[in-house]
Amino acid sequence: MPSTTTSKVSRWDQHGREHVVHVAKSGMQRMLTCDTCGWRKGAQFLPWLKAEEHLADVHQATVDPSAGSRPA
Ligand SMILES: [Zn+2]
Repeated sequence: MPSTTTSKVSRWDQHGREHVVHVAKSGMQRMLTCDTCGWRKGAQFLPWLKAEEHLADVHQATVDPSAGSRPA
């Protein structure tokens, strides 16, 4: 589980491009910022889940590079 105040969620799309949403602590909530499209959203709960939803919905990026158990 992420425990740092700043973090990021990265996913790859089917073209192998990396999309990153940064998660920064902002007062009571977390501020999400997408590197790819500039999308920003505040999230009080489960910011990582919201980041994953954005990456999947907008960028079709659902491959977790840290999973790493798939052979190339
Ligand atoms: Zn985006």
